[in-house]
Amino acid sequence: MTLTPTLTFNDGNTIPQLGYGVWQVEDDVAEKVVGQAFDAGFRHIDTAKIYGNEAGVGRAIAAAGLSPEQLFITTKLWNADQGYESTLAAFEESMERLGLETLDLYLIHWMQPKQEKFVDTWKALIELQKRGRVTSIGVSNFTVEGLQRLIDETGVVPAIHQIELHPYFSQQGLREFGAANGILTQAWSPLGQGGELLKDSVVAGIAAKHQATPAQVVIAWHLAIGNVVIPKSVTESRIKENFGALEVTLDDQDIAAINGLDRSASGEGRIGADPAVSDFA
Ligand code: NAD
Repeated sequence: MTLTPTLTFNDGNTIPQLGYGVWQVEDDVAEKVVGQAFDAGFRHIDTAKIYGNEAGVGRAIAAAGLSPEQLFITTKLWNADQGYESTLAAFEESMERLGLETLDLYLIHWMQPKQEKFVDTWKALIELQKRGRVTSIGVSNFTVEGLQRLIDETGVVPAIHQIELHPYFSQQGLREFGAANGILTQAWSPLGQGGELLKDSVVAGIAAKHQATPAQVVIAWHLAIGNVVIPKSVTESRIKENFGALEVTLDDQDIAAINGLDRSASGEGRIGADPAVSDFA
């Protein structure tokens, strides 16, 4: 079985660089497909309270016969639960659904700039880490200014920042801020949600050169530029294919060609919401 490379957080803990995401997967389906992901070799699972499938993920973990040390599980605090006490309570509910004693990584799901509770929420994550309930803590969907406030007001730097990131939207600014401040970058919708990107002629050309698939080339690009990457699929053959990206090594020319696909300069490329202006319950 291929071993997944790990990256090291600023707190000294490690994260498998390739994981499996379960957004938009029904709870009972999650149980099945997370089991398939474990069979394929994935050991890192990315869920969230709002996905409504923590219980299904938990059942798959219980059925897998793998020890907690072999697994890396992430879940996320939902927007409506932001605030110090409500975060502590929401965390316990997530852990109950997952059936876990300790969580590898807990993330604030969105910054919610207008709600303005993210610093208090971050303080609750710091407390959970102090209590030993969470091994590492991070955030998702923040801006540079929001990350800076967490650092300035608590002195605790997030271990990781999970953001929309794919070749059409490569997030150079946030990646550079992360690298300069010891924050790993994790890519959500890493395949661009499986749309136009996987039909792109540049990606197809590189795939043909390496006898790989477009999805494998895109995942290999994420790995090569130092992202943690969590592709989703509910199709067993694609789950295996995506794990197989670990066998694909791109050269500098391939990486430069994929870097060239970024559309941010023209204000395009983003698929999801913009964290700077999005506040939703
Ligand atoms: P993705 O970029 O991983 O694309 C998934 C889609 O791509 C699949 O539904 C399928 O249609 C297609 N696909 C997958 N493998 C393929 C293959 N081998 N060949 C062809 N098509 C393939 O999109 P995603 O699900 O949005 O993102 C991945 C994960 O990131 C989520 O499941 C979730 O865990 C996380 N996420 C987090 C946030 C956040 O706000 N933090 C937001 C979105 C997603």
